[in-house]
Amino acid sequence: MRAKDTPPDIVDRVPKDLFIGGAWRPAHEGRTFDVEDPSTGQALCAVADATAADGLAALEAAAKAQESWAQHPPRERGEILRRAYEAIIGRQEELAVLMTLEMGKPVSESRTEVAYAAEFFRWFAEEAARIDGGYAVAPNGRGRFLVLKQPVGPSLLITPWNFPMAMGTRKIGPAVAAGCTMVIKPAKQTPLSMLALTEILQQVGLPDGVLNLVTTMRAGTVMEPLIRDGRARKLSFTGSTEVGRTLLEQCAEQVLRTSMELGGNAPFIVFDDADLDAAVDGAMLAKMRNIGEACTAANRFYVQSAVAEEFSRRLAQRMGALTIGRGVDDGVQVGPLIDAAGREKVATLVADAVDKGARVLVGADPIDGPGYFYRPTVLADVPRDARMQREEIFGPVAPVTAFDTEDQALAAANDTPYGLVAYAYTRDLARAVRVCERLEAGMVGLNQGIVSNPAAPFGGVKHSGLGREGGRVGIEEFLEVKYVALNVG
Ligand code: NAP
Repeated sequence: MRAKDTPPDIVDRVPKDLFIGGAWRPAHEGRTFDVEDPSTGQALCAVADATAADGLAALEAAAKAQESWAQHPPRERGEILRRAYEAIIGRQEELAVLMTLEMGKPVSESRTEVAYAAEFFRWFAEEAARIDGGYAVAPNGRGRFLVLKQPVGPSLLITPWNFPMAMGTRKIGPAVAAGCTMVIKPAKQTPLSMLALTEILQQVGLPDGVLNLVTTMRAGTVMEPLIRDGRARKLSFTGSTEVGRTLLEQCAEQVLRTSMELGGNAPFIVFDDADLDAAVDGAMLAKMRNIGEACTAANRFYVQSAVAEEFSRRLAQRMGALTIGRGVDDGVQVGPLIDAAGREKVATLVADAVDKGARVLVGADPIDGPGYFYRPTVLADVPRDARMQREEIFGPVAPVTAFDTEDQALAAANDTPYGLVAYAYTRDLARAVRVCERLEAGMVGLNQGIVSNPAAPFGGVKHSGLGREGGRVGIEEFLEVKYVALNVG
Protein backbone atom coordinates (compact mmCIF):
# COMPACT_ATOMS: atom_id res chain seq x y z
CA MET A 1 0.00 0.00 0.00
CA ARG A 2 1.33 3.46 -0.88
CA ALA A 3 1.64 5.92 2.00
CA LYS A 4 -1.23 8.09 0.81
CA ASP A 5 -3.58 5.09 0.61
CA THR A 6 -4.59 5.32 4.22
CA PRO A 7 -7.55 3.09 5.05
CA PRO A 8 -10.13 5.95 5.10
CA ASP A 9 -9.11 6.89 1.52
CA ILE A 10 -9.71 3.32 0.46
CA VAL A 11 -13.20 3.39 1.99
CA ASP A 12 -13.95 6.81 0.47
CA ARG A 13 -13.21 5.62 -3.04
CA VAL A 14 -15.75 2.78 -2.98
CA PRO A 15 -19.18 3.58 -4.51
CA LYS A 16 -21.89 3.53 -1.83
CA ASP A 17 -25.00 3.42 -4.04
CA LEU A 18 -27.06 0.65 -5.61
CA PHE A 19 -25.97 -0.53 -9.07
CA ILE A 20 -29.02 -1.10 -11.26
CA GLY A 21 -29.16 -1.38 -15.04
CA GLY A 22 -25.57 -0.13 -15.39
CA ALA A 23 -26.04 3.01 -13.28
CA TRP A 24 -25.18 3.89 -9.69
CA ARG A 25 -28.13 5.38 -7.84
CA PRO A 26 -29.21 5.98 -4.26
CA ALA A 27 -31.82 3.88 -2.51
CA HIS A 28 -35.45 4.96 -2.42
CA GLU A 29 -35.78 8.11 -0.27
CA GLY A 30 -31.99 8.22 0.06
CA ARG A 31 -31.95 5.66 2.86
CA THR A 32 -28.56 4.44 4.08
CA PHE A 33 -27.09 2.21 6.78
CA ASP A 34 -23.72 2.19 8.48
CA VAL A 35 -20.94 -0.31 7.85
CA GLU A 36 -18.89 -0.98 10.98
CA ASP A 37 -15.23 -1.84 11.58
CA PRO A 38 -15.52 -4.84 13.93
CA SER A 39 -12.11 -4.11 15.43
CA THR A 40 -13.29 -0.74 16.79
CA GLY A 41 -17.08 -0.93 16.72
CA GLN A 42 -17.00 2.41 14.86
CA ALA A 43 -18.82 3.20 11.62
CA LEU A 44 -16.60 3.25 8.52
CA CYS A 45 -19.18 4.78 6.18
CA ALA A 46 -22.82 4.54 5.14
CA VAL A 47 -24.13 2.68 2.07
CA ALA A 48 -27.49 2.63 0.30
CA ASP A 49 -30.27 0.77 2.10
CA ALA A 50 -32.43 -0.69 -0.67
CA THR A 51 -36.19 -1.09 -0.31
CA ALA A 52 -38.31 -3.81 -1.90
CA ALA A 53 -39.05 -1.41 -4.78
CA ASP A 54 -35.30 -0.98 -5.39
CA GLY A 55 -34.91 -4.76 -5.40
CA LEU A 56 -37.67 -5.13 -7.97
CA ALA A 57 -36.03 -2.45 -10.13
CA ALA A 58 -32.84 -4.51 -10.02
CA LEU A 59 -34.73 -7.63 -11.07
CA GLU A 60 -36.41 -5.69 -13.86
CA ALA A 61 -32.97 -4.64 -15.15
CA ALA A 62 -31.70 -8.21 -14.96
CA ALA A 63 -34.76 -9.59 -16.75
CA LYS A 64 -34.46 -6.96 -19.49
CA ALA A 65 -30.80 -7.75 -20.15
CA GLN A 66 -31.17 -11.55 -20.11
CA GLU A 67 -31.96 -12.24 -23.75
CA SER A 68 -29.15 -10.23 -25.28
CA TRP A 69 -26.66 -11.39 -22.65
CA ALA A 70 -27.48 -15.03 -23.37
CA GLN A 71 -26.53 -14.37 -26.99
CA HIS A 72 -23.25 -12.67 -26.13
CA PRO A 73 -20.44 -14.86 -27.49
CA PRO A 74 -19.11 -17.15 -24.75
CA ARG A 75 -15.54 -16.14 -25.54
CA GLU A 76 -16.40 -12.47 -24.90
CA ARG A 77 -18.15 -13.36 -21.65
CA GLY A 78 -14.99 -15.18 -20.65
CA GLU A 79 -12.79 -12.25 -21.65
CA ILE A 80 -14.77 -9.91 -19.40
CA LEU A 81 -14.10 -12.26 -16.51
CA ARG A 82 -10.45 -12.50 -17.46
CA ARG A 83 -10.11 -8.70 -17.47
CA ALA A 84 -11.85 -8.56 -14.09
CA TYR A 85 -9.38 -11.15 -12.79
CA GLU A 86 -6.45 -8.99 -13.92
CA ALA A 87 -8.01 -5.86 -12.42
CA ILE A 88 -8.61 -7.52 -9.05
CA ILE A 89 -5.06 -8.83 -8.89
CA GLY A 90 -3.78 -5.38 -9.87
CA ARG A 91 -5.65 -3.88 -6.92
CA GLN A 92 -5.11 -6.77 -4.51
CA GLU A 93 -3.57 -4.71 -1.73
CA GLU A 94 -6.24 -2.03 -1.51
CA LEU A 95 -9.05 -4.58 -1.84
CA ALA A 96 -7.45 -6.60 0.97
CA VAL A 97 -7.31 -3.58 3.27
CA LEU A 98 -10.92 -2.73 2.44
CA MET A 99 -11.99 -6.29 3.26
CA THR A 100 -10.11 -6.25 6.55
CA LEU A 101 -11.68 -2.95 7.55
CA GLU A 102 -15.24 -4.23 7.14
CA MET A 103 -14.75 -7.87 8.13
CA GLY A 104 -11.85 -7.86 10.60
CA LYS A 105 -9.58 -10.68 9.39
CA PRO A 106 -5.81 -10.03 9.27
CA VAL A 107 -4.84 -8.28 6.06
CA SER A 108 -2.57 -11.21 5.11
CA GLU A 109 -5.68 -13.42 5.04
CA SER A 110 -7.62 -10.80 3.10
CA ARG A 111 -4.86 -10.79 0.47
CA THR A 112 -5.29 -14.55 0.18
CA GLU A 113 -9.04 -14.19 -0.15
CA VAL A 114 -8.74 -11.51 -2.84
CA ALA A 115 -6.48 -13.83 -4.85
CA TYR A 116 -8.84 -16.77 -4.23
CA ALA A 117 -11.83 -14.63 -5.27
CA ALA A 118 -10.09 -13.50 -8.47
CA GLU A 119 -9.20 -17.10 -9.28
CA PHE A 120 -12.89 -17.95 -9.68
CA PHE A 121 -13.03 -15.37 -12.47
CA ARG A 122 -9.96 -16.84 -14.16
CA TRP A 123 -11.37 -20.35 -13.84
CA PHE A 124 -14.82 -19.45 -15.20
CA ALA A 125 -13.28 -17.26 -17.93
CA GLU A 126 -11.86 -20.52 -19.23
CA GLU A 127 -15.08 -22.48 -18.65
CA ALA A 128 -17.22 -20.00 -20.63
CA ALA A 129 -15.81 -21.28 -23.90
CA ARG A 130 -16.24 -24.94 -22.93
CA ILE A 131 -20.02 -25.11 -22.53
CA ASP A 132 -20.84 -28.21 -24.50
CA GLY A 133 -23.84 -30.27 -25.51
CA GLY A 134 -24.46 -33.66 -27.03
CA TYR A 135 -25.57 -35.59 -30.04
CA ALA A 136 -26.65 -39.21 -30.04
CA VAL A 137 -28.39 -41.80 -32.13
CA ALA A 138 -31.55 -43.02 -30.38
CA PRO A 139 -31.31 -46.63 -29.18
CA ASN A 140 -33.88 -47.73 -31.77
CA GLY A 141 -31.67 -46.22 -34.51
CA ARG A 142 -34.40 -44.05 -35.96
CA GLY A 143 -34.31 -40.73 -34.09
CA ARG A 144 -31.46 -38.46 -33.07
CA PHE A 145 -30.94 -36.61 -29.80
CA LEU A 146 -29.50 -33.13 -29.68
CA VAL A 147 -28.65 -31.78 -26.21
CA LEU A 148 -28.18 -28.05 -25.68
CA LYS A 149 -27.04 -26.19 -22.58
CA GLN A 150 -28.57 -22.77 -22.12
CA PRO A 151 -28.41 -20.15 -19.37
CA VAL A 152 -30.91 -20.72 -16.58
CA GLY A 153 -31.95 -17.07 -16.73
CA PRO A 154 -32.02 -14.16 -14.29
CA SER A 155 -30.44 -15.33 -11.06
CA LEU A 156 -30.62 -14.09 -7.48
CA LEU A 157 -27.34 -14.33 -5.58
CA ILE A 158 -27.16 -13.92 -1.79
CA THR A 159 -23.80 -14.00 -0.01
CA PRO A 160 -22.57 -14.03 3.60
CA TRP A 161 -20.12 -11.72 5.39
CA ASN A 162 -17.36 -14.20 6.20
CA PHE A 163 -15.71 -14.25 2.75
CA PRO A 164 -17.03 -10.95 1.41
CA MET A 165 -15.52 -11.22 -2.06
CA ALA A 166 -14.91 -14.92 -2.78
CA MET A 167 -18.48 -15.97 -1.98
CA GLY A 168 -19.54 -13.43 -4.60
CA THR A 169 -17.09 -14.34 -7.36
CA ARG A 170 -17.88 -18.03 -6.84
CA LYS A 171 -21.43 -17.21 -8.05
CA ILE A 172 -20.86 -14.23 -10.38
CA GLY A 173 -18.10 -16.07 -12.27
CA PRO A 174 -20.21 -19.04 -13.40
CA ALA A 175 -23.31 -16.87 -13.91
CA VAL A 176 -21.41 -14.54 -16.25
CA ALA A 177 -19.75 -17.48 -18.02
CA ALA A 178 -23.08 -19.26 -18.51
CA GLY A 179 -24.85 -16.14 -19.83
CA CYS A 180 -27.12 -15.41 -16.86
CA THR A 181 -27.98 -11.93 -15.63
CA MET A 182 -28.21 -11.42 -11.89
CA VAL A 183 -29.18 -9.47 -8.81
CA ILE A 184 -26.67 -9.84 -6.00
CA LYS A 185 -27.22 -9.00 -2.36
CA PRO A 186 -24.18 -9.10 -0.09
CA ALA A 187 -24.43 -9.34 3.70
CA LYS A 188 -25.17 -6.08 5.52
CA GLN A 189 -21.94 -6.30 7.56
CA THR A 190 -19.66 -6.43 4.48
CA PRO A 191 -21.08 -4.67 1.43
CA LEU A 192 -17.92 -2.71 0.58
CA SER A 193 -15.96 -5.55 -1.03
CA MET A 194 -18.93 -6.33 -3.27
CA LEU A 195 -19.39 -2.65 -4.15
CA ALA A 196 -15.71 -2.46 -5.16
CA LEU A 197 -16.02 -5.69 -7.14
CA THR A 198 -19.11 -4.43 -8.96
CA GLU A 199 -17.28 -1.26 -9.97
CA ILE A 200 -14.45 -3.39 -11.34
CA LEU A 201 -16.89 -5.43 -13.43
CA GLN A 202 -18.43 -2.21 -14.73
CA GLN A 203 -14.97 -0.88 -15.62
CA VAL A 204 -13.95 -4.01 -17.52
CA GLY A 205 -17.03 -3.81 -19.74
CA LEU A 206 -19.76 -6.02 -18.26
CA PRO A 207 -22.86 -4.86 -20.19
CA ASP A 208 -25.53 -2.86 -18.38
CA GLY A 209 -28.08 -4.91 -16.51
CA VAL A 210 -26.04 -8.11 -16.34
CA LEU A 211 -25.02 -7.55 -12.72
CA ASN A 212 -27.27 -5.55 -10.43
CA LEU A 213 -26.28 -4.94 -6.83
CA VAL A 214 -28.55 -4.17 -3.91
CA THR A 215 -27.27 -3.49 -0.42
CA THR A 216 -29.84 -3.50 2.34
CA MET A 217 -30.44 -3.84 6.05
CA ARG A 218 -33.67 -5.75 5.39
CA ALA A 219 -32.64 -8.84 3.46
CA GLY A 220 -35.93 -10.69 3.79
CA THR A 221 -38.16 -7.75 2.88
CA VAL A 222 -36.11 -6.99 -0.22
CA MET A 223 -35.39 -10.52 -1.46
CA GLU A 224 -38.65 -12.35 -0.85
CA PRO A 225 -40.60 -10.37 -3.48
CA LEU A 226 -37.84 -11.12 -5.99
CA ILE A 227 -37.95 -14.82 -5.21
CA ARG A 228 -41.74 -14.88 -5.57
CA ASP A 229 -41.86 -12.57 -8.62
CA GLY A 230 -41.59 -15.18 -11.36
CA ARG A 231 -38.97 -13.44 -13.51
CA ALA A 232 -36.02 -14.83 -11.57
CA ARG A 233 -35.27 -18.45 -12.48
CA LYS A 234 -32.57 -19.30 -9.97
CA LEU A 235 -31.45 -18.60 -6.42
CA SER A 236 -27.86 -19.23 -5.40
CA PHE A 237 -27.43 -18.76 -1.67
CA THR A 238 -24.49 -19.02 0.69
CA GLY A 239 -25.22 -18.63 4.37
CA SER A 240 -26.74 -20.39 7.34
CA THR A 241 -28.84 -23.53 7.09
CA GLU A 242 -31.65 -21.79 8.94
CA VAL A 243 -31.97 -18.99 6.36
CA GLY A 244 -31.34 -21.46 3.51
CA ARG A 245 -34.31 -23.53 4.62
CA THR A 246 -36.59 -20.46 4.62
CA LEU A 247 -35.40 -19.52 1.15
CA LEU A 248 -35.99 -23.04 -0.16
CA GLU A 249 -39.59 -22.78 1.00
CA GLN A 250 -39.95 -19.42 -0.76
CA CYS A 251 -38.39 -20.84 -3.93
CA ALA A 252 -40.93 -23.65 -4.04
CA GLU A 253 -43.65 -21.26 -5.19
CA GLN A 254 -41.96 -20.42 -8.51
CA VAL A 255 -40.04 -23.74 -8.58
CA LEU A 256 -36.70 -21.90 -8.80
CA ARG A 257 -33.46 -23.75 -9.45
CA THR A 258 -31.45 -23.50 -6.24
CA SER A 259 -27.84 -23.80 -5.15
CA MET A 260 -27.44 -23.86 -1.40
CA GLU A 261 -24.06 -23.52 0.32
CA LEU A 262 -25.05 -23.77 3.96
CA GLY A 263 -23.60 -24.27 7.41
CA GLY A 264 -21.06 -26.84 8.52
CA ASN A 265 -19.88 -28.68 11.63
CA ALA A 266 -16.62 -30.16 10.41
CA PRO A 267 -14.98 -33.00 12.31
CA PHE A 268 -11.17 -33.11 12.38
CA ILE A 269 -9.95 -36.65 13.11
CA VAL A 270 -6.38 -37.45 14.11
CA PHE A 271 -5.39 -41.13 14.23
CA ASP A 272 -2.44 -42.29 16.31
CA ASP A 273 -0.42 -43.18 13.19
CA ALA A 274 -0.67 -39.59 11.89
CA ASP A 275 2.27 -37.25 11.43
CA LEU A 276 1.50 -35.19 14.54
CA ASP A 277 3.41 -32.08 13.40
CA ALA A 278 1.42 -32.05 10.16
CA ALA A 279 -1.81 -32.66 12.07
CA VAL A 280 -1.19 -29.68 14.36
CA ASP A 281 -0.29 -27.47 11.36
CA GLY A 282 -3.46 -28.64 9.60
CA ALA A 283 -5.52 -28.07 12.73
CA MET A 284 -4.28 -24.48 12.98
CA LEU A 285 -5.29 -23.86 9.39
CA ALA A 286 -8.63 -25.66 9.59
CA LYS A 287 -9.50 -23.92 12.85
CA MET A 288 -7.97 -20.47 12.57
CA ARG A 289 -8.41 -19.55 8.91
CA ASN A 290 -10.77 -16.58 8.94
CA ILE A 291 -10.63 -16.42 12.77
CA GLY A 292 -12.66 -19.63 12.84
CA GLU A 293 -15.50 -17.90 10.97
CA ALA A 294 -15.56 -20.29 8.03
CA CYS A 295 -18.19 -22.83 7.02
CA THR A 296 -15.21 -25.18 6.57
CA ALA A 297 -13.80 -24.47 10.05
CA ALA A 298 -12.90 -27.56 12.08
CA ASN A 299 -15.63 -27.52 14.72
CA ARG A 300 -14.89 -30.77 16.58
CA PHE A 301 -11.50 -32.41 17.05
CA TYR A 302 -11.47 -36.18 17.60
CA VAL A 303 -8.01 -37.45 18.51
CA GLN A 304 -7.04 -41.07 19.15
CA SER A 305 -6.32 -41.64 22.84
CA ALA A 306 -2.59 -42.42 22.52
CA VAL A 307 -1.86 -38.99 21.03
CA ALA A 308 -4.76 -36.90 22.37
CA GLU A 309 -2.87 -35.30 25.27
CA GLU A 310 0.18 -34.47 23.16
CA PHE A 311 -1.92 -33.10 20.26
CA SER A 312 -3.98 -30.93 22.62
CA ARG A 313 -0.86 -29.62 24.37
CA ARG A 314 0.79 -28.63 21.10
CA LEU A 315 -2.40 -27.10 19.71
CA ALA A 316 -2.92 -25.07 22.89
CA GLN A 317 0.66 -23.85 22.76
CA ARG A 318 0.26 -22.69 19.13
CA MET A 319 -3.15 -21.11 19.73
CA GLY A 320 -1.94 -19.30 22.85
CA ALA A 321 1.02 -17.79 20.96
CA LEU A 322 -1.08 -16.08 18.27
CA THR A 323 -1.00 -12.28 18.08
CA ILE A 324 -4.45 -10.71 18.46
CA GLY A 325 -5.26 -7.24 17.16
CA ARG A 326 -6.66 -5.03 14.43
CA GLY A 327 -6.35 -6.86 11.15
CA VAL A 328 -4.78 -3.87 9.40
CA ASP A 329 -1.84 -3.79 11.85
CA ASP A 330 1.41 -5.58 11.01
CA GLY A 331 1.98 -9.03 12.46
CA VAL A 332 -1.60 -9.57 13.62
CA GLN A 333 -2.77 -13.19 13.26
CA VAL A 334 -6.20 -13.05 14.89
CA GLY A 335 -8.68 -10.24 14.24
CA PRO A 336 -12.04 -9.55 15.89
CA LEU A 337 -15.22 -11.54 15.37
CA ILE A 338 -17.79 -9.96 13.08
CA ASP A 339 -20.05 -8.39 15.69
CA ALA A 340 -21.20 -8.41 19.30
CA ALA A 341 -23.70 -11.22 18.64
CA GLY A 342 -20.97 -13.38 17.07
CA ARG A 343 -18.71 -12.94 20.08
CA GLU A 344 -21.57 -13.53 22.51
CA LYS A 345 -22.42 -16.80 20.79
CA VAL A 346 -18.83 -18.04 21.06
CA ALA A 347 -18.61 -17.06 24.74
CA THR A 348 -21.93 -18.79 25.47
CA LEU A 349 -20.84 -22.02 23.77
CA VAL A 350 -17.54 -22.05 25.70
CA ALA A 351 -19.33 -21.40 29.02
CA ASP A 352 -21.76 -24.22 28.27
CA ALA A 353 -18.93 -26.69 27.50
CA VAL A 354 -16.99 -25.72 30.64
CA ASP A 355 -20.17 -26.05 32.76
CA LYS A 356 -20.59 -29.56 31.40
CA GLY A 357 -17.03 -30.57 32.34
CA ALA A 358 -14.64 -29.43 29.56
CA ARG A 359 -11.10 -28.48 30.65
CA VAL A 360 -9.69 -25.14 29.46
CA LEU A 361 -6.16 -25.62 28.09
CA VAL A 362 -5.80 -22.06 26.84
CA GLY A 363 -8.01 -19.00 26.34
CA ALA A 364 -11.67 -18.78 27.34
CA ASP A 365 -11.02 -15.51 29.17
CA PRO A 366 -12.44 -12.13 28.07
CA ILE A 367 -10.59 -9.42 26.18
CA ASP A 368 -11.43 -5.88 27.26
CA GLY A 369 -11.63 -2.84 25.05
CA PRO A 370 -13.41 -1.89 21.86
CA GLY A 371 -14.01 -4.37 19.05
CA TYR A 372 -15.31 -7.93 19.19
CA PHE A 373 -12.19 -9.89 20.03
CA TYR A 374 -12.19 -13.42 21.45
CA ARG A 375 -9.07 -15.18 22.62
CA PRO A 376 -8.03 -18.40 20.81
CA THR A 377 -9.21 -21.24 23.02
CA VAL A 378 -8.55 -24.96 23.30
CA LEU A 379 -10.83 -27.16 25.40
CA ALA A 380 -10.15 -30.81 26.26
CA ASP A 381 -12.54 -33.57 27.31
CA VAL A 382 -15.49 -31.79 25.76
CA PRO A 383 -18.55 -33.92 26.49
CA ARG A 384 -20.90 -35.05 23.78
CA ASP A 385 -23.81 -33.07 25.14
CA ALA A 386 -21.92 -29.77 24.94
CA ARG A 387 -23.71 -27.44 22.51
CA MET A 388 -20.52 -26.80 20.55
CA GLN A 389 -20.48 -30.45 19.47
CA ARG A 390 -23.72 -29.79 17.56
CA GLU A 391 -23.64 -26.08 16.65
CA GLU A 392 -21.27 -24.08 14.48
CA ILE A 393 -18.90 -22.23 16.82
CA PHE A 394 -17.83 -19.68 14.17
CA GLY A 395 -14.93 -18.50 16.29
CA PRO A 396 -11.40 -19.39 17.44
CA VAL A 397 -12.32 -22.28 19.72
CA ALA A 398 -11.07 -25.86 19.36
CA PRO A 399 -12.89 -28.56 21.37
CA VAL A 400 -10.87 -31.78 21.61
CA THR A 401 -12.32 -35.19 22.46
CA ALA A 402 -10.38 -38.46 22.64
CA PHE A 403 -11.51 -41.68 20.92
CA ASP A 404 -10.30 -45.28 20.89
CA THR A 405 -11.37 -46.95 17.65
CA GLU A 406 -11.87 -45.95 14.02
CA ASP A 407 -15.54 -46.89 14.25
CA GLN A 408 -16.01 -44.63 17.26
CA ALA A 409 -14.34 -41.73 15.47
CA LEU A 410 -16.48 -42.14 12.37
CA ALA A 411 -19.69 -42.53 14.37
CA ALA A 412 -18.93 -39.32 16.28
CA ALA A 413 -17.86 -37.46 13.11
CA ASN A 414 -21.05 -38.40 11.27
CA ASP A 415 -23.32 -37.73 14.25
CA THR A 416 -24.51 -34.37 12.92
CA PRO A 417 -27.11 -33.18 10.44
CA TYR A 418 -24.36 -31.24 8.66
CA GLY A 419 -22.03 -32.64 6.01
CA LEU A 420 -19.91 -29.94 4.41
CA VAL A 421 -16.32 -31.01 5.03
CA ALA A 422 -14.37 -33.40 7.24
CA TYR A 423 -10.63 -33.65 7.89
CA ALA A 424 -8.66 -36.80 8.66
CA TYR A 425 -5.00 -37.36 9.46
CA THR A 426 -3.50 -40.81 9.06
CA ARG A 427 -0.50 -42.40 7.34
CA ASP A 428 -2.27 -45.72 6.84
CA LEU A 429 -3.45 -45.84 3.22
CA ALA A 430 -6.11 -48.48 3.73
CA ARG A 431 -7.53 -46.59 6.68
CA ALA A 432 -7.44 -43.33 4.71
CA VAL A 433 -9.53 -44.85 1.94
CA ARG A 434 -12.01 -46.38 4.40
CA VAL A 435 -12.39 -43.13 6.28
CA CYS A 436 -12.80 -40.98 3.15
CA GLU A 437 -15.50 -43.33 1.90
CA ARG A 438 -17.41 -43.46 5.18
CA LEU A 439 -17.35 -39.79 6.14
CA GLU A 440 -20.70 -38.14 5.39
CA ALA A 441 -19.40 -34.94 3.85
CA GLY A 442 -19.26 -33.26 0.47
CA MET A 443 -15.51 -32.71 0.89
CA VAL A 444 -12.68 -34.38 2.80
CA GLY A 445 -9.30 -32.88 3.65
CA LEU A 446 -7.01 -35.91 3.86
CA ASN A 447 -3.81 -34.94 5.66
CA GLN A 448 -4.52 -31.32 4.87
CA GLY A 449 -6.35 -28.59 6.68
CA ILE A 450 -7.82 -26.71 3.73
CA VAL A 451 -9.92 -27.92 0.80
CA SER A 452 -11.06 -24.72 -0.95
CA ASN A 453 -9.90 -24.45 -4.56
CA PRO A 454 -11.71 -22.75 -7.45
CA ALA A 455 -10.89 -25.69 -9.72
CA ALA A 456 -12.56 -28.23 -7.36
CA PRO A 457 -16.26 -28.86 -6.65
CA PHE A 458 -17.12 -27.18 -3.33
CA GLY A 459 -20.30 -28.08 -1.48
CA GLY A 460 -22.01 -30.15 1.13
CA VAL A 461 -24.43 -33.00 1.76
CA LYS A 462 -27.21 -33.34 4.34
CA HIS A 463 -28.12 -29.96 5.89
CA SER A 464 -24.99 -28.34 4.44
CA GLY A 465 -26.53 -27.75 1.08
CA LEU A 466 -27.45 -28.58 -2.47
CA GLY A 467 -25.24 -28.25 -5.54
CA ARG A 468 -21.56 -27.46 -6.00
CA GLU A 469 -19.60 -24.30 -6.70
CA GLY A 470 -16.30 -24.19 -8.57
CA GLY A 471 -14.69 -26.96 -10.56
CA ARG A 472 -16.11 -28.32 -13.82
CA VAL A 473 -19.58 -28.63 -12.30
CA GLY A 474 -19.75 -25.03 -11.06
CA ILE A 475 -21.04 -23.65 -14.35
CA GLU A 476 -23.68 -26.38 -14.62
CA GLU A 477 -25.53 -24.75 -11.71
CA PHE A 478 -26.31 -21.86 -14.09
CA LEU A 479 -27.16 -23.96 -17.15
CA GLU A 480 -30.34 -25.73 -18.18
CA VAL A 481 -30.26 -28.83 -20.34
CA LYS A 482 -32.56 -28.80 -23.35
CA TYR A 483 -33.07 -31.95 -25.39
CA VAL A 484 -34.24 -31.73 -28.97
CA ALA A 485 -35.72 -34.88 -30.47
CA LEU A 486 -34.70 -34.91 -34.14
CA ASN A 487 -36.91 -36.69 -36.57
CA VAL A 488 -34.60 -37.79 -39.34
CA GLY A 489 -37.26 -39.69 -41.25
P1 NAP B 1 -26.96 -15.79 7.18
O1 NAP B 1 -27.42 -15.07 8.37
O2 NAP B 1 -27.70 -16.97 6.72
O3 NAP B 1 -26.90 -14.69 6.02
C1 NAP B 1 -26.43 -14.99 4.75
C2 NAP B 1 -27.01 -14.04 3.75
O4 NAP B 1 -28.42 -14.21 3.72
C3 NAP B 1 -26.78 -12.57 4.10
O5 NAP B 1 -26.62 -11.83 2.91
C4 NAP B 1 -28.08 -12.19 4.77
O6 NAP B 1 -28.36 -10.83 4.72
C5 NAP B 1 -29.06 -12.97 3.94
N1 NAP B 1 -30.32 -13.21 4.59
C6 NAP B 1 -30.60 -13.37 5.89
N2 NAP B 1 -31.92 -13.58 6.07
C7 NAP B 1 -32.50 -13.56 4.84
C8 NAP B 1 -33.82 -13.71 4.36
N3 NAP B 1 -34.84 -13.93 5.18
N4 NAP B 1 -34.04 -13.62 3.03
C9 NAP B 1 -33.03 -13.39 2.17
N5 NAP B 1 -31.74 -13.23 2.58
C10 NAP B 1 -31.48 -13.33 3.89
O7 NAP B 1 -25.45 -16.27 7.32
P2 NAP B 1 -24.19 -15.41 7.77
O8 NAP B 1 -24.25 -15.25 9.23
O9 NAP B 1 -24.05 -14.20 6.92
O10 NAP B 1 -23.01 -16.39 7.34
C11 NAP B 1 -22.59 -17.42 8.14
C12 NAP B 1 -23.18 -18.74 7.71
O11 NAP B 1 -22.89 -18.97 6.35
C13 NAP B 1 -22.61 -19.91 8.45
O12 NAP B 1 -23.62 -20.82 8.77
C14 NAP B 1 -21.65 -20.53 7.45
O13 NAP B 1 -21.38 -21.88 7.66
C15 NAP B 1 -22.36 -20.28 6.18
N6 NAP B 1 -21.43 -20.33 5.04
C16 NAP B 1 -21.48 -21.40 4.20
C17 NAP B 1 -20.60 -21.49 3.15
C18 NAP B 1 -20.63 -22.67 2.21
O14 NAP B 1 -20.04 -22.57 1.13
N7 NAP B 1 -21.29 -23.77 2.55
C19 NAP B 1 -19.65 -20.49 2.95
C20 NAP B 1 -19.62 -19.41 3.82
C21 NAP B 1 -20.53 -19.33 4.87
P3 NAP B 1 -28.00 -9.86 5.95
O15 NAP B 1 -26.60 -10.08 6.27
O16 NAP B 1 -28.19 -8.52 5.40
O17 NAP B 1 -28.90 -10.22 7.05
